[in-house]
Formats: sequence, structure tokens, C-alpha cells
Amino acid sequence: MTMTTIATTLLTLVELPYAYDSLEPYISAETMHFHHDKHYASYVAKLEGLISDTHYATMPLEEIVRSSDGAIFDNAAQAWNHVFYFEQFSPHAKHHPTGELQRAIDVEFGSFAALKQIMTDVSLSLFGSGWVWLAADRDGRLYIITKPNAGTPLTDGLTPLLSIDLWEHAYYIDYRNMRKDAVANLWKVIDWNKIEERYNNAIG
Ligand code: MN
Repeated sequence: MTMTTIATTLLTLVELPYAYDSLEPYISAETMHFHHDKHYASYVAKLEGLISDTHYATMPLEEIVRSSDGAIFDNAAQAWNHVFYFEQFSPHAKHHPTGELQRAIDVEFGSFAALKQIMTDVSLSLFGSGWVWLAADRDGRLYIITKPNAGTPLTDGLTPLLSIDLWEHAYYIDYRNMRKDAVANLWKVIDWNKIEERYNNAIG
């Protein structure tokens, strides 16, 4: 992955870890260009402007998210959320969890199919812009969490594992008002190798 350092801060504009068109036909290159190059990049640029000459300027992004509020939180959390979101996809995705994570999903939700159904239902019922998250606590227990706007489970002391971006900019080019189809197709590019890696890190 290429990292481009923005002068004077720790902020980086993180490049996609795959080609823009590689998640097609489920997420188009046009969506990825707008989502990454316009929306995500704009959060990073706005945050950079907001934190220059403040004590946040030398803070890691995750720490800014945990310790700020207002516009700094909104832009920091959206910057963090988007890197996290983009990194969970792969054109060579493993389509189902295995190992410890699979066991935890079975215990908490009954089955992987049930987890997907619940996250889909919650995604369809979220009003307005926001995110649906799968997150873990230190004991490895799993939670499905809905957050409006820039919200993230980082501020609840949980480790995020997977996110569904329900801002219209995430799907409107490809799916217009059909949020249901957008969410259904996300499961085809979410790489459970990545989600398992995050889970294994969470439980240490
Ligand atoms: Mn987004």
C-alpha cells in the first residue's frame, strides 16, 4: 500500500489496497473513485485544516477519534472509518468466516447466515446517513452496532471488525435508492480473512 504523507501532520491519505475497478460488478470503479478520491479525501483535507496548530496535529488518527468532538470528531472519524471500510474488501475475498470468529458468530447469532440477515435488516432500517458495525469486546463477544453520521464503536471501547457504509454516496451511483441490493452485494466482496485478522487482534 502506498502512503502519501501530508505535510506537518501525522495524517495520511491511504490509497486503496486494490484497483478501483476490481470490485466490479458489485462496486463500480466510478463509485470507488468518488468514494475514495472525493469523499474520503475531503474528510482528510478538512481534518487537516481543522487540526493544524492544535494539539491534535501530532496525534495518531485513532487517538483523535477517541478524544475529540464536534467537527474534528466528525472528520477524523470519517477519515478513520473509510480506511477501515475500504480495507475490508478484496477481489479475492474469502466469503465466510472460519476458526475462532466463526465459533463466536455461531454462539452469538446462531449462524453466519443469521449474522448477515441481522446486519442487513439493521442496515435497511437505519434512517438517514450512518454506519452499521460488527465489533468485538476484549473477551471476544460480538456486537452489531448502529451509528448515525460519523459514529464508530471505537468510542465505545470496542474493536471494529466490519462496517457497512450507509451514506448514500457509498451506493447511489450504482444502486440509486436500492439500499437493499447494495447491502446484499457487499457480502460478495467482504474478505473474511481480513475480518478474522481484526478479530484475532482484538482478542489478543
Ligand atoms: Mn462513505
